[in-house]
Amino acid sequence: MKVVIATNNAHKVEEIKTALDFEGWEFCTLREAGLSSDPAEDADTFLGNARIKAQAAREAALAAGMTCAVLADDSGIEVDALGGAPGVYSSRYAGVDGDDAANNAKLLRELEGVPDEERTGRFVCTLVFLDETGAETCARGTIEGRIGYAEAGSGGFGYDPLFIPDCFGGEVTLAQVSQSEKNGVSHRGNALRELKALLGAHVPGV
Ligand code: IMP
Repeated sequence: MKVVIATNNAHKVEEIKTALDFEGWEFCTLREAGLSSDPAEDADTFLGNARIKAQAAREAALAAGMTCAVLADDSGIEVDALGGAPGVYSSRYAGVDGDDAANNAKLLRELEGVPDEERTGRFVCTLVFLDETGAETCARGTIEGRIGYAEAGSGGFGYDPLFIPDCFGGEVTLAQVSQSEKNGVSHRGNALRELKALLGAHVPGV
């Protein structure tokens, strides 16, 4: 089965391919499939935005005469002291989409004076898979932790240098562990493991 991943983020693509290692599945990105799809992600939940991306990719594939499944994800960080912000606005928290440095600087500013025990939060990832008939399977994963006081580490991306997960002893940020250590505990890793189990049970031929 051909599966179009509704992202061009190389980080995510590799992780998805490795996690959903079903025999006979072939993955490609929108770009590799020659498709273009960039819908407005204007839902107020991660699930809503992942659905928008998955449906738009499916429509683009159908319009190009392709028969395939599609997989979309939406993710972000929720900080308890900020009422769940940045949430679905994580990638454009400081105003410019994907400006990680500005987003991290804004998060630190918003948390100025907030004590350790109130700096709790989590990364969330929601996945929406549509099979060739359009039938939907969704999965969600989280990782709990707290927000540090300064960036630490050079791995990962986004808010990783500020996020100190509870696992790994609550001492290091997600940017200070290896990619495989991160995948083993991350919101996206957890969502992919759940999706793999659901697909294994429900999708014929898997
Ligand atoms: P999206 O799922 O590509 O829309 O990602 C939303 C935003 O959430 C990203 O731009 C990052 O700022 C943040 N984010 C999502 N996953 C991670 C992660 O694994 N580490 C750090 N930041 C993340």
